[in-house]
Amino acid sequence: MKYQPVIGMEVHVELSTKSKMFCGCSAEFFGADPNVNTCPVCLALPGALPVMNKQAIAYTIMLGHAINCEIQPHNVFARKNYFYPDLPKGYQISQYELPLCLNGYVDVAPSGAEPKRIRVKRIHLEEDTGKLTHVGKNSLVDLNRAGVPLMEIVTEADINSADEAYQYVTKLRQLVRYLGIGTGDMEKGAMRCEVNLSLTDPETGEWGTKVEVKNLNSFRTVRNAIAYEIERQTEVLESGGSIEQVTMGWDESRGITLRQRVKEGDTGYRYFPEPDLPPLYLEAAWIEELQRNLPELPESKLARYLDEYKLSTKDANILVEDQAVATYFDEVVAVATDGVTPKQISNWVTGELFRLLGESGNDISEMPIKPADLVALIALVNGKTINQPGAKQTFAVMFETGRAPKDIVEELGLQQISDTSALVGIASQVIADNPKPVAQFKAGKQATIKFLVGQIMRHTRGKANPQLAEQVLREQLQG
Ligand SMILES: [Zn+2]
Repeated sequence: MKYQPVIGMEVHVELSTKSKMFCGCSAEFFGADPNVNTCPVCLALPGALPVMNKQAIAYTIMLGHAINCEIQPHNVFARKNYFYPDLPKGYQISQYELPLCLNGYVDVAPSGAEPKRIRVKRIHLEEDTGKLTHVGKNSLVDLNRAGVPLMEIVTEADINSADEAYQYVTKLRQLVRYLGIGTGDMEKGAMRCEVNLSLTDPETGEWGTKVEVKNLNSFRTVRNAIAYEIERQTEVLESGGSIEQVTMGWDESRGITLRQRVKEGDTGYRYFPEPDLPPLYLEAAWIEELQRNLPELPESKLARYLDEYKLSTKDANILVEDQAVATYFDEVVAVATDGVTPKQISNWVTGELFRLLGESGNDISEMPIKPADLVALIALVNGKTINQPGAKQTFAVMFETGRAPKDIVEELGLQQISDTSALVGIASQVIADNPKPVAQFKAGKQATIKFLVGQIMRHTRGKANPQLAEQVLREQLQG
């Protein structure tokens, strides 16, 4: 490519604390009636004073630890002044010169490319704005979201493609979910992305004029908007034009970026230290405690699945991708007995369970199969009480009802016929009924035996132990 894209990202993540950043109102606003979660503080009534939410600070530090940041023991909140109808105070409390976290990084592995380190410049904590809904010529204001804790994660301009950006936001959301500090649901606005993109001059290597693209509300949009903007800027430069420093928005329906306004520099916000909040001094012991108590993160989980459980790289990656899946897998492994192996559990989770979740559209968190019951099912197969088709049938009922496998096997009569005498008669019948395949087998066509085993399975409605059925058949055919 002639022009090399240089991309920096700003990602906002809402924190799932119980209360808002600076008042006691509920931070859970999704689906609530407009303006019910409000108080004098978040409505910015005169004389109301903010109080910091310790949990939000802890959550931000947890992400900082997870992405290898330096945690700043001395922090200051700052006022970012601007006017907009969804911002009742006329300023947003944010952090400017002294954010909570500095100098971290996230390693990503774009498909088919070398692993890449994306440096994170800073993570700071601020409050979210309210929401505007435009109805005809009017705009309705809902301040339930105003004051919800919001983290902003800012990278260096280390991203060089749409795919790297996609991998970065995917990994960030995975960490947010593993840490349990936010939902990361982009479609609900709980995670929002902005990119700064410029193209370098191929001769001098200098960065071109930076264009900001806002309102990227899905992973797909992040990828599409960057690809579009690279193409647009390339065309402008190739036709001899110059890039304007503007803020663009993404128009999802038309699949294009649209100019919104001329970009305002930081000076336009007239930042100054928030006079209503004291500077924040964090104890080293607390910062360390937060690090010690971090949950197991995807990378170490992956290593454990590979080294300890000997899973394939493919299966281990599939299990780790979604924290809820990994948690369920770990819970099942924790109660495994009777020689049930992590590999067998992994096969059921990534096989039948994923298939049924995909078909039903259900979430794994709503799935009723208890960990001990999945172990019990696998033990029934290992003990030859049921065969593989019977186990799948049982599993489907477990998935629907959450009942114990043993009861389902009894009710449906799925116990495998492992009794030779019960199969001898059926085998004779099958041999008598199928002279042609029998002749083929006797003439040396070994594969025909599979057909005859299939006939026994049909006669027993799938309940015969297939190995035993084959053995009985061979005895009779060779006898
Ligand atoms: Zn409030």
